[in-house]
Amino acid sequence: MEQTPGNTRGLTLVFTGNGKGKTTAALGMALRAWGQGMKVLVLQFIKGGWKYGELKAAEKLGPNFVMRQMGEGFIKGAGDDGLEAHRAAAQNALQEAKKAVVEGAADMIILDEINYAVHYGLVDLAEVLDIIRSKPPGVHLVLTGRNVAEEVANLADLVTEMKEIKHPFAAGIPAQKGIEF
Ligand code: ATP
Ligand code: MG
Repeated sequence: MEQTPGNTRGLTLVFTGNGKGKTTAALGMALRAWGQGMKVLVLQFIKGGWKYGELKAAEKLGPNFVMRQMGEGFIKGAGDDGLEAHRAAAQNALQEAKKAVVEGAADMIILDEINYAVHYGLVDLAEVLDIIRSKPPGVHLVLTGRNVAEEVANLADLVTEMKEIKHPFAAGIPAQKGIEF
């Protein structure tokens, strides 16, 4: 569908759920936007949410496709000290996200794993809601991660829940190039 200027509208989109595909769905949309000449910014709240494959692709896509890894490694099993490091990194990511959204630094801004960061108490839900509300009308904002807060889902225009039916890890199949990294 051709978009006419009057038909252009920035959306808030959420990819959540336990099944695989949240970050890849966001990146697929980012590719689509990039192809339309739009500027894409991806901020990662928890390290590990994206892998070498997409980082290498982003490099090749050039200045209109920026990915920044802001977070620390996986949270599960982190001790108190580890959790503090996660919190500091997530807070840093949050400030960066706030600034980018308010300024409309890109046409599509993806906050990867931000839902997870809220769920683990690394960032305040209220601050995330503020970011969504402060979104300039033309900007697409994408929030990924398991356990999306109900209040975030309520503000979004689209919420898709990835549901696990099967995952190769359960059958002992290790991560495969092109699928997982
Ligand atoms: P992807 O990055 O592949 O789109 P995701 O963003 O939906 O996955 P995350 O919750 O960010 O998934 O999980 C990060 C890692 O855990 C990824 O390597 C992903 O493949 C893996 N993973 C996701 N869902 C499952 C699952 N149901 N069982 C086992 N591993 C999973
Ligand atoms: Mg992910």
